[in-house]
Amino acid sequence: MAESPSGPPSDDDMLQALARHLSRDGGAVRLDSPGSADLSWHSILDCRIRRTTETRSETPRTEKGRKDLTALPTYTHIAGYRPGPPGDHGTTRRIELVREGSVHHRTCECGNGEWACGRCEGRGSLPCDPTTACPDCRGLEPCAECGGTGTPRPRPKGGDRAGKPASGAVPRRVRCAKCRRPEAACRTCAGRGRTECSQCKGTGLVDCPKCGAGGTVAHDACAGSGVVTTWMGGLIEQRSRGEVVRRPRRRPPFRVRLRTARSGHWRKAELTGDDALPGDLDATHAEALEPHLAPRAGEVHRTVVLRHLPLARITVPTDPDRVFYAFPGSAGIEVLPLPSRRRVARVVAIAAAVLVVAVLLLRLLV
Ligand SMILES: [Zn+2]
Ligand SMILES: [Zn+2]
Ligand SMILES: [Zn+2]
Ligand SMILES: [Zn+2]
Ligand SMILES: [Zn+2]
Repeated sequence: MAESPSGPPSDDDMLQALARHLSRDGGAVRLDSPGSADLSWHSILDCRIRRTTETRSETPRTEKGRKDLTALPTYTHIAGYRPGPPGDHGTTRRIELVREGSVHHRTCECGNGEWACGRCEGRGSLPCDPTTACPDCRGLEPCAECGGTGTPRPRPKGGDRAGKPASGAVPRRVRCAKCRRPEAACRTCAGRGRTECSQCKGTGLVDCPKCGAGGTVAHDACAGSGVVTTWMGGLIEQRSRGEVVRRPRRRPPFRVRLRTARSGHWRKAELTGDDALPGDLDATHAEALEPHLAPRAGEVHRTVVLRHLPLARITVPTDPDRVFYAFPGSAGIEVLPLPSRRRVARVVAIAAAVLVVAVLLLRLLV
């Protein structure tokens, strides 16, 4: 066989394979003279690139309380830290670090975790009005005689006293505590218009609801612990992304894809870092991959997994109804004949003509 065992097949390898294929139908076919066949390459490339880029940063950190950071990995120089292998495809990985010797547990400015209550300013109580408007008269008409002032209003001549109860009924009004007139004042406030505040029982002070009368609350800056932890935190963020490169851009016919997927002798390679592209790669494939192999900003890891298959499309002028695809198979070069576009067009034209005749016949008969 003419195919070289290591490198990709040449034009001659493909043409000889086609000549052998055509000779099977009887008679020796030769395709080595100029113009006897037309060959073009449509080699297939299927390549997946996984790239990991990262950023590194350092920030002074502060946390409330005595924070245990022993579980975090430490570093001396953020640039020198070596994280493990990058994460899976399409993931983002965050690695939190602590700079060696930077962790301090400081006593908080509050000393013991307690801090004067901001609501009552440390007093433990809040001022409250010792009285409230009378719930019965709402302070509007506490006494019919004096209106809560203590000085009775002059009575109109012959007029009835306001609030005088009907005979036999419970008197609705009582003696006014201010003007001393009987049956004139509101029963609840006795003409004062206000009653003792139920909140403060008339003392004028209520317990502060925030500190519960203690005057202090847990200090927010240290979460009540009296301690603040400070350290220098390092952060490494890694992002992995996948790229796909396929050639040719215009994919081969479906039957060719099916057959090559099943029996093509695909060449495979997996490259990491600065590994060179395989030497047997088609020049157009190498050209297509080149821009993808330039390292991106912050790139720390790259894997290139590719498979490729030489594929030639051959037409023979003396056989215009067929087009041939040739590719290396498991046992030498395989040839797949497909109907040419000319043949397909003719079949379609014949089918259309048959349809027209059928329609005409149908119309004659109906
Ligand atoms: Zn504190
Ligand atoms: Zn308080
Ligand atoms: Zn009160
Ligand atoms: Zn009164
Ligand atoms: Zn009242």
